[in-house]
Parts: sequence; C-alpha cells; structure tokens
Amino acid sequence: MTGRSMTSATNKLLPLKDLGNQPKGPYTLASAVLVDAGPEEAGVGCLTIENGRIIARSKVPDPRYPTYDCSDFIICPGLVNAHTHCAMGFFRGLGHGKTDMIENFLFPAEKALTPELLEDLSLSYIAAGIRAGVTMFSDHYYFVEGVGRAIEKLGARGIIGETVADLGGAFPGAESTKRMHTMLERWKFSDRIAPSVAPHAADTVSKKLLTELGAFAANNKMHLHMHLAQTTGELQRVQKREHISPVRYAANCGALSERTLAVHLIACDDDDIKILKDHNVTAGICPVSEIVYERLPAVDRLFRAGITTALGTDCAASNDTSDILAEMRIFSLLMRDRGVSLEDYSFKDTLAAGTVNGANLFGKSHVTGLLKTGSAADLVLVNLAVDILPASNPLANLLYSANAGHVDHVLVEGRFILRDRKLTMAGESDVKLSYVKAVETIKKRLQKA
Ligand SMILES: [Zn+2]
Repeated sequence: MTGRSMTSATNKLLPLKDLGNQPKGPYTLASAVLVDAGPEEAGVGCLTIENGRIIARSKVPDPRYPTYDCSDFIICPGLVNAHTHCAMGFFRGLGHGKTDMIENFLFPAEKALTPELLEDLSLSYIAAGIRAGVTMFSDHYYFVEGVGRAIEKLGARGIIGETVADLGGAFPGAESTKRMHTMLERWKFSDRIAPSVAPHAADTVSKKLLTELGAFAANNKMHLHMHLAQTTGELQRVQKREHISPVRYAANCGALSERTLAVHLIACDDDDIKILKDHNVTAGICPVSEIVYERLPAVDRLFRAGITTALGTDCAASNDTSDILAEMRIFSLLMRDRGVSLEDYSFKDTLAAGTVNGANLFGKSHVTGLLKTGSAADLVLVNLAVDILPASNPLANLLYSANAGHVDHVLVEGRFILRDRKLTMAGESDVKLSYVKAVETIKKRLQKA
C-alpha cells in the first residue's frame, strides 16, 4: 500500500533526507500512510506543514510546495505519555517485587533528590520516550522545573506539575505549595510547555489543601493532574481519615472536573466510577505500572461508564520504559481480556488513548493529537519495514506489528527531534554522560542518608 501512484505528476518527489532538521515550510510530506484517531480512514495521503502547523491534509500534494517522499512510512500523530515522572529513570529496574512500593521504597529514596539533579536525571526517560514516538510528556514531580528544562532541551512538548502534598510523600509540608506558586510566578518556558496543578494523591493531601488546589485550578482554568485511588493502601488511609472513598473525597474537595486527569483508579467501586463520569474526569491508565505495583484497574467498567482514557507509563520503578506504543498494544489486549470487543473499543479508540485524549490536556486548541488542518505538526514516522508489510490494515500494523525500533523520525512543530533514530537537539553522548553523572550523585547521597 505504498502510494507513489497517488502523487501528482507535477510534483517532483524529493528524498526525505534533503529536508533540513528545522524547516519552516511550507513543505509537504507525501505518499505516507496516514493514521490517526480522527474520523478519516487510514490511507495514503499528504501533510503540508508551515511554521509548525499542518496547513493541509490531502490525497495529492500541492504543486506549489517542495514535496518529500514518505512512501516508506506510516505517519501518526505524536504519542502522548499522559502520566510520567521522568526524573525517576534512576529507579529503572528496581521496583519489581517491592511491596507497598510507594510508601516504603520510593518516598525514602526521593528524599535524596535536589533541584540541580532533576534536569539531568530526566533526560534518559525522555530520550526513551522520543525513540518510541512520544512527543508530549505530562510530568508530575518534585522540582519539576528541571523536568521542563529537560523536555525543552530534547525538543519535545510537556505539561509539568509540581507535586504538592502536606500529609505524605518525599517532601510533605507547605514548602511544596510554595514551590508550585514560585514555579508559576517565574514561568519562563516556551509555548511547548504548559503547567498543571498536581496534588500528589488523596491520602497525602489534606482536605484544606486539596480544596485550595481544586479552586486554584478551576479559577485559572488549569489542568489538574493527580494520582487517585492508586492503591488499596490509599483507599484504606483515606477511609480511616475521612470515612469516604478517595474519589468521593477528591470530588468533595472540588478537585474533579473535565480538566482533571485522575491516575490509576485501582481502588474504585461503581459509585466512584459514577462520580468520575459525572465530573467528566479523564482516567489516566498506566497498564504496565499498575500491574507491576498492584493490579490493573477496572478498565472495562471505566470504559462502559463512558469515561475517556489517556495512557501513561508512570515511573521507571514500576515501568522500565516510557514506550506508549507498547502501552497501547498492552492496553488493547487487556481490554479484550476484560471482555470488551474490538467492535466496542476499536483500534482507533486505542490510538486515541495514546494521542488525542492526552493531547486535550495541553489546553491549546492547535495541540490536537490528530492529523488535521490547523493542528500542531507533532508527527511520528514509522518505518514500513518488511516486518510490518503489507500495510493493508495500517491501524493494526501500527499497534500490533510496529515497535519503538520502527520509529525512524519524530517531529515536534514540524521540526525533527529524532532523525534516523538519533536525537537532534542534544548530543547523544552528552545526554548519557549528564544522566550517568546525576545517577552517581544521587546514589552517593542515598548511601550517606
Ligand atoms: Zn505516578
């Protein structure tokens, strides 16, 4: 299903290697198999890009513009990792088999963090994500400005929220709220980074503080990103303290709305699911992480209640990769396992969970997670290698045949951030060196503690 025959005879097809890394355009990526979660069927087509936006999606290229041959690629929108803690790359591989991981393992280790380490620690997870086609990372962490800097450095897009908690976590107390406001006051990121309000979880944030944060997010029309009902332990702690479920507690505090991403939702009953639906909350589901640290939430019941899902990977302790392509495949399989048919939850629905549903949280209408006119040109070029062909069902091929090794190029706002599988915005060896140094430093700090 390669599309050379679809191309107008008036357009000379240029090799993609002739396109610079930072083109302003207009330029056309032609003859690719276009796949997104929108209403248009997957098939061969062209995208014309100017100043970072898609200005046309067409069957044949416009003869006015330089046209590059993409007949060897599936092009899909940049994938969105809706829930990460990028700096936790230094926990990679260490979470397996830990019981009550969050309380007993992560929080004590995180006390060794310093703001200076955050940027370098984040690079590894962001690089891994970009190599798997992720263009947007929604991060929730301490000293999160460093994560924002790392995302900017590698050319990706991000939503960053300073983790706020007063009853638990690595840095409980008023300081965390102060850090959030300080970050917002001295905000100095490009348009590719957006802020979120990020309470840690229902068991670690008091009623007073969660109510304040809910009101702050509502008044400023900000995305609110929180762990919710993430473990049985959280459910027990909130029930003991508040005599209600974590979901009802968050609703009572005004933290739930159509701008809320509630992450994990493992410890939810049907009443909780109804509350989530009534408030139009998006469920942040991280299948691998949830299985590693406890269990998969009731994704079938969330779906049947009409709740939208955005996929994330969570942290490297409970998910050793930041690969949303893999997460989509696993999620699609788990939906089948839970009795949700492909007719009810299609491949497009799965792709939506890894693209448009998370992109909606960015809060700017041009960042759509779709291949449509007016959208940001955040794109993934997946190599139609022989192990993917024949591309006769491109959605199935993308979700079930392709893996991160097929992601050749990644563009954000029409510019290459991954080219021929290499980062373009920073030297690969420099990124590795900075990361390894930061990991050594934190290990030394942990030994002293
Ligand atoms: Zn998390």
